[in-house]
Amino acid sequence: MITIKALNEARVRLHNTVHVTPVLTSRTLDEQTGASVYIKSEHLQKTGSFKIRGATNCVMIAKDQGARHLVAASSGNHGQAVAFVARELGIPATIVIPENANAAKEEAIRNYGAEVVHVGTTSSERLQYAEQLVEQLNATFIPPYDDEAVMAGQGTVGLEILSQVHDPEVVIVPIGGGGLISGISTAIKHINPKIKVIGVEPENASDTLKSRKAGQRITIDRADTIADGLRASTPGEMTFPIIEEHVDDIITVSEEEIREAFVFYLSRMKQVVEPSGSVTLAALRSGKVTHHGGNVVVVASGGNLDLRAIKRFVE
Ligand SMILES: *Cc1c(COP(=O)(O)O)cnc(C)c1O
Repeated sequence: MITIKALNEARVRLHNTVHVTPVLTSRTLDEQTGASVYIKSEHLQKTGSFKIRGATNCVMIAKDQGARHLVAASSGNHGQAVAFVARELGIPATIVIPENANAAKEEAIRNYGAEVVHVGTTSSERLQYAEQLVEQLNATFIPPYDDEAVMAGQGTVGLEILSQVHDPEVVIVPIGGGGLISGISTAIKHINPKIKVIGVEPENASDTLKSRKAGQRITIDRADTIADGLRASTPGEMTFPIIEEHVDDIITVSEEEIREAFVFYLSRMKQVVEPSGSVTLAALRSGKVTHHGGNVVVVASGGNLDLRAIKRFVE
């Protein structure tokens, strides 16, 4: 559960620390979708994704409680966010990443001043190693989504949406482990339960939709998608019940639909939104989101990308 108190405290903690990101509009997009579309632009956030919100909230609380070393297990946006916050707050950090991690991502983490350790190729190997490190160094583990402080930090995106967009009809949010949508949906449903919150997963990584249909958390075999931030194979223990309570619908998009949305952002809006952040626009553009022509908010969750990958996406 995320309390309203936790959300409000996160908002105060993050004030002056993270950007209030803009909402972008496009006449072409409005014409093509029949809605008034607002892109909540977390690809323009510090470190290139919303992950800085949850990481900052969690690390600030940990610091108050005396944390002296931070550990995270992520080669992606969470790893970058924790490395960035650690340096801002003057706490050493160790980020555990896979042996086959992308060199560009590793460099970004190192550039923020964190120590990088390569371990195995599966997330369970990395988590195990991270646990050992936490013991050895008497460190604090910063989880990517299954944590109240992290979810509340991500929820500040929802509070900002409500202050930036008049009377939203639908808010569309990507789902990986489910931290972002847990925070946003809690904020939105608390303030106006009539606003629909729609989650989006790649068809190839639809663990949350499958779990919803099964009525319990299930684990999928393999999540093979260009949306690398959404490759979680099971929803979080804490996030799943929140999603079940607050998220109205979960939609899946194909790899081709993700590519199409990515190219739309790049060519029509001049925005670099990584595939994980493009799934929400893909859902809207594919016609799978039910709306009545009102204000539709699309969360563009991140913009970090290996530039060489663009060639593959646009071919
Ligand atoms: C982590 C991430 C997501 C998914 O967020 P969860 O909280 O894991 O559901 C979506 N988009 C981007 C760009 C991310 O980095």
